[in-house]
Amino acid sequence: MINIKPPYLGCAYYPEDWPVEEIEKDAAKMKATGIQVARIAEFAWSRMENTEGVFTFDWLHNVVDTLAKYGIATVMGTPTATPPIWLSRKYPDVLMEQEHGRRAQHGGRRHCCSNNEHYREYSARIVEKMAQEFADDENVIGWQIDNEIYAFGKGCMCPVCAEKFRQHLKEKFKTVDALNKAWNLTIFSQEYNFFDEIPLPRDAWVNPHHNMEWRIFQQESIVEFVTMQAEILKKYVKVPVGTDVMPVNGMNYLHMNKKLDIVQFNHYNNPDNLNHCSFWFDFLRNVKDRPFWNTETSTCWNGSVNIPQTVKPEGFCYANSWLPIALGGEANMYWLWRTHWGGHEIMHGSVLDACGRPMHIYNEVKKIAKDYQRAGYFLNHTNVTTPIAIHYPSHSWNFFETQGIVQGFNYQNSVIQNYYDPIVQRGLRPDVLEAAQDFSKYKVLFTPFVPSLENEGLGERIRKWVENGGVWVVGPMTDNRNIDGARYKDRPFGMLEEFLGVRWAYAVPDLKDEIKCKWASGQPFTSRLWYELYEKDADALATVSEAPHSALVGKAVAIKKKVGKGVVFLLGTIPSADVMRSNILPLALDAAGLSTGHVGDSSNLMVARREGHGMTGVVVVEYQGKPARYTLDKPAVELITAHKLEGTIDIKPYQVLVLQE
Ligand SMILES: [Zn+2]
Repeated sequence: MINIKPPYLGCAYYPEDWPVEEIEKDAAKMKATGIQVARIAEFAWSRMENTEGVFTFDWLHNVVDTLAKYGIATVMGTPTATPPIWLSRKYPDVLMEQEHGRRAQHGGRRHCCSNNEHYREYSARIVEKMAQEFADDENVIGWQIDNEIYAFGKGCMCPVCAEKFRQHLKEKFKTVDALNKAWNLTIFSQEYNFFDEIPLPRDAWVNPHHNMEWRIFQQESIVEFVTMQAEILKKYVKVPVGTDVMPVNGMNYLHMNKKLDIVQFNHYNNPDNLNHCSFWFDFLRNVKDRPFWNTETSTCWNGSVNIPQTVKPEGFCYANSWLPIALGGEANMYWLWRTHWGGHEIMHGSVLDACGRPMHIYNEVKKIAKDYQRAGYFLNHTNVTTPIAIHYPSHSWNFFETQGIVQGFNYQNSVIQNYYDPIVQRGLRPDVLEAAQDFSKYKVLFTPFVPSLENEGLGERIRKWVENGGVWVVGPMTDNRNIDGARYKDRPFGMLEEFLGVRWAYAVPDLKDEIKCKWASGQPFTSRLWYELYEKDADALATVSEAPHSALVGKAVAIKKKVGKGVVFLLGTIPSADVMRSNILPLALDAAGLSTGHVGDSSNLMVARREGHGMTGVVVVEYQGKPARYTLDKPAVELITAHKLEGTIDIKPYQVLVLQE
């Protein structure tokens, strides 16, 4: 039996690329490098069932056994992203129908309709056969369902999906008149008389509520397809099952992972946007009550020429490999071990090139393998802890994808740049939360750009939490839509006016930075793009000082209210990162009785405090390739070097410190 402990260092491997003798050589090289886990089989359906109903698993058993001979465990992928040609030929209806009415063709991947009964039936059968074959193989330590599964573009618009969507609308709205009212279909004479008349949201200027409902329906169809596979696998296998997601297109990852055991995640971020993947890591560690697996990242580059890719600096691979581990994961796996010699994705970075020779980052990978194990005991017995959280619900993402508020607004970028980064830059760590997640343990909660607080009863849950002492930073673009994305007819907000005793005045866009705001002290309050303004308020923190229209001047733009035992900071505009970092965040932390962070330290560090089993400490990752300074809270042993450290220390570009206090 294989004896490996997290943090796992792994890689994707495609044995279908290579003759048997090369597989043995690769396994030996993996062992020499320090690789512990190989992810295999995710696209190999045609090698397992080349002819309908004829299953061939000997070759795959041989691969698992060969890897195990060198101490390497297997994560087994189900191959449903790439069905073989016989399925597409026998049942052409399995192929997705794209927005403009053409069927996808065989030859790529993820080209099938997740609602199609033939695709589901044959997917279920290959998954069950694999589960039966490998359930008792102790060298298989986990399963991955499909690959990077999400509703691509607008999803599938085939007749099966159309019928299922109308059925979904019938169940949700009961009567077509209720749907007409919810979506305000009197506009443009869109009223329907029968559910069967409702078109798919294609080739037209589509009603935004219709568009949003369709997106969510398509996403939930994907969840159903993954859940179907999970239920089959779990009849046979005892090891954790997951699906390797990519953070695209607004999927609800709580729904996706409900029947799964382990969150798996793929990313290809580069030196310019590692903060975006750390944002996702801060989300992932809270989805299930166990550490996530980073199932894919590149060692050196993602080979797509649609993405600007250039050589990454020395040390980037090392820091990038540490980030998921620092932020609550227990595995980091590369895509891929050995470059494909032909076919798709031939230009991707890897550990070895197609000839089996090491790439330039090879020594970094070897060092990572050693350093993970040096810090492993502490990492495996502690968890990331924080009193701060930010909401990032999939419902909001779907809303902004289907209903623009102001030109130049990007939901994810604005959450990261104006809320997440300022917290991280003070050496603090937020958890990132879906709407349904429990937030009762947090002291400070940020809820920016969440148009509907009806989502998962968020508004009422937050009301109670604030009354019991929570500090809530809310807005802008929050609480001004119902769950269908429509406005309230009798009030501007669902609850904020009544809850806070404030009075809404106007909301205006500002694409030219013509609106200027100031703090009560007179200092400038820098902000951008969107202004929800309030009537004069004794608790105003900031007001409009200049505007192209005099009616806006003097209106409140940030207000602090005491409510019950708690405090609410209401923001009517997108604060600059500096205003958030230097002003609003310290005010909120102070109101919650929390430390205001590592003010004198460098902002290019990811800092994660960890606790567990009587141990405390901090992992620090320099992630921008620049020198940094960090002041320890307490003397600590740095576990990678075994050095004792205290006070303020210098950190090298891409250096990682695992500090046990
Ligand atoms: Zn379909």
